[in-house]
Amino acid sequence: MRFVTLGRGIHDGIQVRPRWPARHVRVDAVVLSKLQSIQAQLPSEITLILTRGYEPRASHLGFVRMWFRTLGIGVFRRLYPDRQHEIADIFGSNGHDVDGTHIDVSFCLNGRRIRMLPLGVFTPSSWQHRRVQRYASPLNFILTSLKRNGFRVHHNETESLQIHCDLIPATK
Ligand SMILES: [Zn+2]
Repeated sequence: MRFVTLGRGIHDGIQVRPRWPARHVRVDAVVLSKLQSIQAQLPSEITLILTRGYEPRASHLGFVRMWFRTLGIGVFRRLYPDRQHEIADIFGSNGHDVDGTHIDVSFCLNGRRIRMLPLGVFTPSSWQHRRVQRYASPLNFILTSLKRNGFRVHHNETESLQIHCDLIPATK
């Protein structure tokens, strides 16, 4: 497995915008080349944005994420008492601390960044549904293309809009 470390900018056609407070996105080289072929298959008005990849737990960033997670869980519990069962999916590290095959992506439509979760993971479900309807076409293109290229999109609705996906290891 070979890591590539990408700063904010465009890398061979893939936009990278690290999620604050990260300055880089680290991914497996295979993931980057897959994203490049996915980008090539998408309609020209859709641009993928890579926002998050590998974040080792024993790092400053890992430490900050852990604090966000602890605070976030407290807020989420209060806001959405009936969505407690989603906490593990939404606030778990979802493999980001394991290796560079677990990523979050986002997208631009005609050059404009589309935020499927304007309030992050705290975006109410009704807003999420409305945005899914509004952006159904580009979203379907992206999700279908990710799956066709060997990624598994997270089963939780909020995480799927964060477009968290994992590259399924090739079976030998
Ligand atoms: Zn993720």
